[in-house]
Amino acid sequence: MKHVIALDVGGTGMKAALLAQDGSVLFEARRPTGREHGTDAVVAAILGFAADLADEGRARFGHAPLAAGVAVPGTIDEKNGIAVFSANLGWRDLPLRKLLGERLGGLPVALGHDVRSGGLAEGRIGAGQGVDRFLFIALGTGIAGAIGIDGRIEAGAHGYGGEIGHVVVRPGGPQCGCGARGCLETLASASAVSRAWAEASGDPDADAASCAAAVDAGNDRARAVWQTAVDALADGIVLAQSLLDPSTVIVGGGLAEAGDTLFTPLRAAVTERLTFQMPPKVVPAMLKDTAASLGAGLLAWDLLSMEVTA
Ligand SMILES: [Zn+2]
Repeated sequence: MKHVIALDVGGTGMKAALLAQDGSVLFEARRPTGREHGTDAVVAAILGFAADLADEGRARFGHAPLAAGVAVPGTIDEKNGIAVFSANLGWRDLPLRKLLGERLGGLPVALGHDVRSGGLAEGRIGAGQGVDRFLFIALGTGIAGAIGIDGRIEAGAHGYGGEIGHVVVRPGGPQCGCGARGCLETLASASAVSRAWAEASGDPDADAASCAAAVDAGNDRARAVWQTAVDALADGIVLAQSLLDPSTVIVGGGLAEAGDTLFTPLRAAVTERLTFQMPPKVVPAMLKDTAASLGAGLLAWDLLSMEVTA
Protein backbone atom coordinates (compact mmCIF):
# COMPACT_ATOMS: atom_id res chain seq x y z
CA MET A 1 0.00 0.00 0.00
CA LYS A 2 1.43 3.36 -1.03
CA HIS A 3 1.63 5.67 1.95
CA VAL A 4 3.19 8.86 3.32
CA ILE A 5 4.23 10.00 6.78
CA ALA A 6 1.99 12.65 8.36
CA LEU A 7 3.27 14.37 11.47
CA ASP A 8 1.92 17.29 13.49
CA VAL A 9 4.24 18.81 16.08
CA GLY A 10 2.34 20.57 18.85
CA GLY A 11 3.44 22.40 21.99
CA THR A 12 3.02 19.34 24.19
CA GLY A 13 2.34 16.38 21.92
CA MET A 14 3.04 15.07 18.42
CA LYS A 15 0.33 13.33 16.42
CA ALA A 16 1.30 11.14 13.51
CA ALA A 17 -0.21 8.88 10.91
CA LEU A 18 0.60 6.88 7.84
CA LEU A 19 -1.75 8.15 5.18
CA ALA A 20 -2.99 6.55 1.96
CA GLN A 21 -3.47 8.65 -1.16
CA ASP A 22 -7.23 9.04 -0.58
CA GLY A 23 -6.51 10.51 2.86
CA SER A 24 -7.43 7.38 4.80
CA VAL A 25 -5.44 6.66 7.93
CA LEU A 26 -3.46 3.40 7.82
CA PHE A 27 -1.68 3.79 11.15
CA GLU A 28 -1.78 6.31 13.98
CA ALA A 29 0.60 7.16 16.81
CA ARG A 30 1.21 9.88 19.39
CA ARG A 31 4.24 10.94 21.38
CA PRO A 32 5.11 13.78 23.73
CA THR A 33 7.05 16.68 22.17
CA GLY A 34 9.21 16.91 25.29
CA ARG A 35 9.80 20.65 25.17
CA GLU A 36 10.72 20.61 28.86
CA HIS A 37 14.01 19.01 27.71
CA GLY A 38 14.89 21.95 25.44
CA THR A 39 14.82 22.74 21.74
CA ASP A 40 17.55 20.29 20.68
CA ALA A 41 15.65 17.46 22.37
CA VAL A 42 12.43 18.50 20.59
CA VAL A 43 14.19 18.41 17.21
CA ALA A 44 15.70 15.00 18.06
CA ALA A 45 12.24 13.75 19.08
CA ILE A 46 10.71 14.93 15.77
CA LEU A 47 13.44 13.26 13.69
CA GLY A 48 13.27 10.07 15.75
CA PHE A 49 9.49 9.85 15.48
CA ALA A 50 9.65 10.37 11.70
CA ALA A 51 12.29 7.63 11.35
CA ASP A 52 10.22 5.23 13.47
CA LEU A 53 7.16 5.96 11.33
CA ALA A 54 9.17 5.12 8.21
CA ASP A 55 10.16 1.80 9.85
CA GLU A 56 6.53 1.17 10.76
CA GLY A 57 5.52 1.71 7.12
CA ARG A 58 8.23 -0.66 5.91
CA ALA A 59 7.18 -3.33 8.41
CA ARG A 60 3.50 -3.04 7.56
CA PHE A 61 3.55 -2.56 3.82
CA GLY A 62 6.88 -3.98 2.73
CA HIS A 63 8.21 -0.71 1.35
CA ALA A 64 9.18 2.74 2.57
CA PRO A 65 6.78 5.71 2.69
CA LEU A 66 6.88 7.78 -0.50
CA ALA A 67 7.17 11.14 1.26
CA ALA A 68 6.69 12.88 4.59
CA GLY A 69 4.65 15.91 5.58
CA VAL A 70 5.36 17.68 8.85
CA ALA A 71 3.30 20.51 10.33
CA VAL A 72 4.81 22.77 12.99
CA PRO A 73 3.60 25.83 14.90
CA GLY A 74 4.95 29.37 14.66
CA THR A 75 6.34 31.14 11.61
CA ILE A 76 7.17 28.87 8.68
CA ASP A 77 8.96 29.43 5.40
CA GLU A 78 7.17 26.67 3.52
CA LYS A 79 8.97 27.29 0.25
CA ASN A 80 12.43 26.82 1.74
CA GLY A 81 11.40 24.32 4.38
CA ILE A 82 12.55 26.45 7.31
CA ALA A 83 10.86 26.55 10.71
CA VAL A 84 11.56 30.25 11.16
CA PHE A 85 10.38 30.82 14.72
CA SER A 86 8.34 29.19 17.44
CA ALA A 87 8.02 30.85 20.84
CA ASN A 88 6.61 27.59 22.20
CA LEU A 89 9.29 25.22 20.94
CA GLY A 90 12.18 27.66 21.02
CA TRP A 91 13.70 27.29 17.57
CA ARG A 92 14.87 29.97 15.17
CA ASP A 93 15.64 29.40 11.48
CA LEU A 94 15.64 25.64 11.86
CA PRO A 95 16.18 23.90 8.46
CA LEU A 96 13.69 21.21 9.43
CA ARG A 97 12.91 19.98 5.91
CA LYS A 98 16.60 19.37 5.19
CA LEU A 99 17.12 17.62 8.56
CA LEU A 100 14.10 15.38 8.00
CA GLY A 101 15.15 14.58 4.43
CA GLU A 102 18.61 13.53 5.65
CA ARG A 103 17.21 11.42 8.47
CA LEU A 104 14.71 9.73 6.15
CA GLY A 105 17.28 8.78 3.55
CA GLY A 106 16.45 11.43 0.97
CA LEU A 107 12.66 11.09 1.13
CA PRO A 108 10.79 14.15 -0.22
CA VAL A 109 9.55 16.24 2.72
CA ALA A 110 6.90 18.96 2.88
CA LEU A 111 7.02 21.38 5.80
CA GLY A 112 3.73 23.07 6.69
CA HIS A 113 2.19 25.42 9.21
CA ASP A 114 0.01 23.62 11.77
CA VAL A 115 -3.14 25.72 11.38
CA ARG A 116 -2.89 25.99 7.60
CA SER A 117 -2.36 22.21 7.43
CA GLY A 118 -5.42 21.73 9.63
CA GLY A 119 -7.41 24.04 7.37
CA LEU A 120 -6.23 22.14 4.29
CA ALA A 121 -7.46 18.85 5.77
CA GLU A 122 -10.81 20.34 6.83
CA GLY A 123 -11.22 21.69 3.31
CA ARG A 124 -10.36 18.46 1.49
CA ILE A 125 -11.59 15.67 3.74
CA GLY A 126 -13.43 17.40 6.60
CA ALA A 127 -16.17 19.98 7.09
CA GLY A 128 -15.30 21.89 3.91
CA GLN A 129 -15.32 18.97 1.49
CA GLY A 130 -16.48 20.17 -1.90
CA VAL A 131 -16.28 23.85 -0.90
CA ASP A 132 -13.93 25.93 -3.03
CA ARG A 133 -13.80 29.07 -0.85
CA PHE A 134 -13.72 28.71 2.91
CA LEU A 135 -12.29 30.27 6.03
CA PHE A 136 -11.05 28.00 8.81
CA ILE A 137 -10.89 29.48 12.31
CA ALA A 138 -9.32 27.66 15.26
CA LEU A 139 -10.42 28.93 18.67
CA GLY A 140 -7.83 27.64 21.11
CA THR A 141 -5.29 29.27 23.41
CA GLY A 142 -5.15 31.91 20.71
CA ILE A 143 -7.11 32.27 17.49
CA ALA A 144 -5.64 31.31 14.15
CA GLY A 145 -7.11 30.88 10.72
CA ALA A 146 -6.57 29.58 7.22
CA ILE A 147 -7.95 30.84 3.93
CA GLY A 148 -8.99 28.02 1.61
CA ILE A 149 -9.09 28.69 -2.12
CA ASP A 150 -9.59 26.01 -4.77
CA GLY A 151 -8.18 23.13 -2.76
CA ARG A 152 -5.17 24.95 -1.32
CA ILE A 153 -4.46 27.35 1.51
CA GLU A 154 -3.46 30.95 0.80
CA ALA A 155 -0.47 31.62 3.04
CA GLY A 156 0.02 35.25 1.98
CA ALA A 157 3.23 36.93 0.85
CA HIS A 158 5.04 36.44 4.18
CA GLY A 159 3.28 33.39 5.64
CA TYR A 160 0.86 35.39 7.79
CA GLY A 161 -2.28 35.00 5.69
CA GLY A 162 -5.38 34.05 7.66
CA GLU A 163 -4.29 35.52 11.00
CA ILE A 164 -7.82 36.49 11.94
CA GLY A 165 -6.94 36.30 15.64
CA HIS A 166 -5.12 39.60 15.26
CA VAL A 167 -7.85 41.51 13.51
CA VAL A 168 -8.73 44.39 15.87
CA VAL A 169 -12.41 44.12 16.72
CA ARG A 170 -12.37 46.34 19.85
CA PRO A 171 -10.05 49.34 19.32
CA GLY A 172 -8.36 50.17 22.64
CA GLY A 173 -9.53 46.82 24.05
CA PRO A 174 -7.53 44.21 25.99
CA GLN A 175 -3.78 44.00 25.43
CA CYS A 176 -2.82 41.24 22.99
CA GLY A 177 0.41 39.22 23.04
CA CYS A 178 1.17 40.63 19.57
CA GLY A 179 1.45 44.17 20.99
CA ALA A 180 -1.85 45.54 19.72
CA ARG A 181 -5.06 46.07 21.67
CA GLY A 182 -8.49 44.60 21.10
CA CYS A 183 -7.44 41.75 18.80
CA LEU A 184 -10.09 39.09 18.26
CA GLU A 185 -8.10 36.52 20.23
CA THR A 186 -8.11 38.69 23.37
CA LEU A 187 -11.93 38.36 23.39
CA ALA A 188 -12.99 35.12 21.75
CA SER A 189 -10.23 32.53 22.23
CA ALA A 190 -10.87 29.66 24.62
CA SER A 191 -8.29 31.28 26.95
CA ALA A 192 -10.04 34.67 26.80
CA VAL A 193 -13.38 33.08 27.67
CA SER A 194 -11.76 31.07 30.49
CA ARG A 195 -10.20 34.23 31.90
CA ALA A 196 -13.41 36.25 31.68
CA TRP A 197 -15.49 33.46 33.21
CA ALA A 198 -12.98 32.88 36.04
CA GLU A 199 -13.27 36.57 36.89
CA ALA A 200 -17.06 36.76 36.58
CA SER A 201 -17.71 33.55 38.52
CA GLY A 202 -15.02 34.11 41.16
CA ASP A 203 -13.75 30.57 40.53
CA PRO A 204 -10.07 30.67 39.48
CA ASP A 205 -10.37 27.17 37.97
CA ALA A 206 -13.36 28.07 35.77
CA ASP A 207 -12.71 27.55 32.06
CA ALA A 208 -14.43 27.92 28.69
CA ALA A 209 -16.08 24.49 28.98
CA SER A 210 -17.54 25.32 32.41
CA CYS A 211 -18.70 28.68 31.01
CA ALA A 212 -20.53 26.87 28.19
CA ALA A 213 -22.12 24.50 30.73
CA ALA A 214 -23.24 27.49 32.85
CA VAL A 215 -24.71 29.15 29.72
CA ASP A 216 -26.71 25.97 29.08
CA ALA A 217 -27.86 26.01 32.71
CA GLY A 218 -29.21 29.55 32.25
CA ASN A 219 -26.59 31.42 34.29
CA ASP A 220 -26.87 35.13 33.36
CA ARG A 221 -23.27 36.04 34.18
CA ALA A 222 -22.06 33.18 32.00
CA ARG A 223 -24.37 34.31 29.21
CA ALA A 224 -22.88 37.81 29.34
CA VAL A 225 -19.33 36.45 29.16
CA TRP A 226 -20.29 34.10 26.32
CA GLN A 227 -22.09 36.78 24.32
CA THR A 228 -19.07 39.09 24.57
CA ALA A 229 -17.01 36.38 22.88
CA VAL A 230 -19.72 35.56 20.32
CA ASP A 231 -20.14 39.23 19.35
CA ALA A 232 -16.40 39.69 18.90
CA LEU A 233 -16.19 36.52 16.83
CA ALA A 234 -19.12 37.60 14.67
CA ASP A 235 -17.41 40.97 14.05
CA GLY A 236 -14.28 39.12 12.95
CA ILE A 237 -16.22 36.76 10.68
CA VAL A 238 -18.14 39.61 9.07
CA LEU A 239 -14.89 41.45 8.40
CA ALA A 240 -13.54 38.32 6.75
CA GLN A 241 -16.77 37.90 4.81
CA SER A 242 -16.47 41.40 3.37
CA LEU A 243 -12.87 40.80 2.41
CA LEU A 244 -12.85 37.17 1.21
CA ASP A 245 -16.48 36.19 0.61
CA PRO A 246 -16.09 32.53 1.62
CA SER A 247 -19.11 30.27 1.21
CA THR A 248 -18.31 28.41 4.42
CA VAL A 249 -16.69 29.36 7.73
CA ILE A 250 -15.37 26.27 9.54
CA VAL A 251 -14.89 26.83 13.25
CA GLY A 252 -12.71 24.45 15.27
CA GLY A 253 -10.57 24.43 18.41
CA GLY A 254 -11.50 24.06 22.06
CA LEU A 255 -14.30 26.62 22.10
CA ALA A 256 -16.08 24.93 19.19
CA GLU A 257 -16.50 21.84 21.39
CA ALA A 258 -19.43 23.76 22.93
CA GLY A 259 -21.45 22.83 19.83
CA ASP A 260 -24.82 24.54 19.46
CA THR A 261 -24.14 26.65 22.55
CA LEU A 262 -21.62 28.42 20.33
CA PHE A 263 -22.98 27.90 16.83
CA THR A 264 -26.60 28.96 17.38
CA PRO A 265 -25.84 32.45 18.78
CA LEU A 266 -22.84 32.83 16.48
CA ARG A 267 -24.88 32.25 13.31
CA ALA A 268 -27.49 34.74 14.59
CA ALA A 269 -24.83 37.34 15.41
CA VAL A 270 -23.22 36.99 11.98
CA THR A 271 -26.55 37.19 10.17
CA GLU A 272 -27.66 40.34 11.99
CA ARG A 273 -24.40 42.12 11.08
CA LEU A 274 -24.47 41.41 7.36
CA THR A 275 -25.75 44.10 5.03
CA PHE A 276 -24.97 43.33 1.40
CA GLN A 277 -22.68 40.31 2.00
CA MET A 278 -23.94 36.84 1.27
CA PRO A 279 -24.21 34.87 4.53
CA PRO A 280 -21.59 32.14 4.91
CA LYS A 281 -22.48 28.73 6.29
CA VAL A 282 -20.93 28.62 9.77
CA VAL A 283 -20.10 25.00 10.58
CA PRO A 284 -18.11 23.07 13.19
CA ALA A 285 -14.80 21.51 12.18
CA MET A 286 -14.94 17.73 11.75
CA LEU A 287 -11.40 16.47 12.17
CA LYS A 288 -10.78 17.73 15.72
CA ASP A 289 -7.19 17.42 16.89
CA THR A 290 -6.04 15.23 13.99
CA ALA A 291 -6.64 17.93 11.36
CA ALA A 292 -3.07 19.25 11.26
CA SER A 293 -1.57 15.76 11.06
CA LEU A 294 -3.91 14.78 8.21
CA GLY A 295 -3.15 18.07 6.46
CA ALA A 296 0.58 17.39 6.74
CA GLY A 297 0.00 14.06 5.02
CA LEU A 298 -2.00 15.76 2.26
CA LEU A 299 0.92 18.17 1.76
CA ALA A 300 3.20 15.17 1.32
CA TRP A 301 0.88 13.71 -1.34
CA ASP A 302 0.67 17.11 -3.03
CA LEU A 303 4.46 17.20 -3.14
CA LEU A 304 4.52 13.85 -4.94
CA SER A 305 1.89 14.87 -7.47
CA MET A 306 3.87 18.05 -8.21
CA GLU A 307 7.00 15.95 -8.81
CA VAL A 308 5.10 13.76 -11.26
CA THR A 309 3.69 16.71 -13.20
CA ALA A 310 6.95 18.74 -13.13
ZN1 LIG B 1 -2.95 40.54 18.45
